[in-house]
Amino acid sequence: MSHHFDNSYARLPERFFARQSPTPVAAPRLLALNAGLARDLGFDPAALAAAEGVDWLAGNALPEGAEPIAMAYAGHQFGGWVPQLGDGRAILLGEVVSPAGRFDLHLKGAGPTPFSRMGDGRAWLGPVLREYLLSEAMAALAIPTTRALAAVATGEAVARDATARPGAVLLRVAASHIRVGTFQYFAARQDSEALAALTAHVIARHYPQADGPLGLLEAVIAAQARLIAGWMSLGFIHGVMNTDNMAVSGETIDYGPCAFMDAYHPDRVFSSIDHTGRYAYAQQPQIALWNLAQFATCLLPLMGEREAAIAAATAALDGFAPIYQAEWLRRFAAKIGISAPQPEDGDLIETLLSRMALLRADFTRVFAGLANGTARAEFAEPEAFDHWAEAWRARIAQEADPQAVMAAANPRRIPRNHRIEAVIAAAVAGDMAPFHHLHAALSAPFEDRPDWAGLAAAPAPDEVVQRTFC
Ligand code: AMP
Ligand code: MG
Ligand code: MG
Repeated sequence: MSHHFDNSYARLPERFFARQSPTPVAAPRLLALNAGLARDLGFDPAALAAAEGVDWLAGNALPEGAEPIAMAYAGHQFGGWVPQLGDGRAILLGEVVSPAGRFDLHLKGAGPTPFSRMGDGRAWLGPVLREYLLSEAMAALAIPTTRALAAVATGEAVARDATARPGAVLLRVAASHIRVGTFQYFAARQDSEALAALTAHVIARHYPQADGPLGLLEAVIAAQARLIAGWMSLGFIHGVMNTDNMAVSGETIDYGPCAFMDAYHPDRVFSSIDHTGRYAYAQQPQIALWNLAQFATCLLPLMGEREAAIAAATAALDGFAPIYQAEWLRRFAAKIGISAPQPEDGDLIETLLSRMALLRADFTRVFAGLANGTARAEFAEPEAFDHWAEAWRARIAQEADPQAVMAAANPRRIPRNHRIEAVIAAAVAGDMAPFHHLHAALSAPFEDRPDWAGLAAAPAPDEVVQRTFC
């Protein structure tokens, strides 16, 4: 497998990272292997599933050519500045260079690093399977995201909440793990040389068409505006939109206490650590813009004369809202069957959403039910739907094939929290079958299949998950 590997990040100056190998685990056992992704990356799934493959998926051996490192970064966590974070429980094994492109292979839960602070560097099975399912669902929904290549049980216990839990590692694949917080780390140290090297690296790797730091800023702003609109269209709440959890590639990264909401409300929060609702559903676009303003601040020293640089960066940030709004309108219009939205269609969408919020209607089921006539039944007071539906039917009468537009825009299934918890409980008890069943169903979210019908159901009142944990 050596010919696949490169380590371009490890060739950056030594202060960008700490050289660190994964800490071997007691008894690696493959829990899940993403064979399709493995093939796309040029790996032979059978070789990965064999003992030698599982050894490196677990961190017990290194793939030939790998130069493992823990990346340094900083970040604003819930708005508070933290000058040093870094990979405390994940190790970048290197980059696989494949026909599909260059991708980081990042082993999460691989043991302590110089950035671990008080942490143990490990992960337990629950968050590993959670990230696997959520990231793979996101990929199937065509939203930019990190992917899951494999989950391996370590055979070791991990202490969480005074409980011994089964340990696991996740092999995560990403365009890169370079974050807004990576730029902040060097900006805070007034290390212009490092900032210039990082900027050149990111442009070459992710935005080769971008012209200098301003071009990079504009490209990242556009990518994030589109990404957040994508999240919004699925009812996804990231939960920890700290600047260290925002990838400059524009991929969804760091699936912690995130959630796809069931009952819709714009103020919805799941994260057990988001006490003030800073990262609530409807806050996400403005938080993204706040994070991007931090990114812009980092680039200013590379942008020439200060006043002119500030004016250019401000103009670039002003570009976020129009891109976001256009993408939001395009996505939500498609969800109600409109292929070429007019500005006034925004009101029609907002009216539906406000009625859904008032009655806590299920986000996914309402939209999926528009095409087949079951949306009405999702409202506790169906008249609230009827009045809206009159205006809606008049509008989509102008469309050639609104059913097809809706069918392609509205998933039948999302990774619902109660289903993920059931999968984790079964996995802890040694049964991975529910994981594989859910994974398969989430991999084809726009398809209907009789044995997947139950997975589209909203949680019963006693099944509703109110809080998610990292
Ligand atoms: P996250 O909440 O996953 O974005 O992590 C925030 C920071 O805490 C990052 O620097 C992580 O590497 C670090 N961290 C989280 N969990 C652990 C752990 N169990 N051991 C060491 N570091 C951790
Ligand atoms: Mg170093
Ligand atoms: Mg993080």
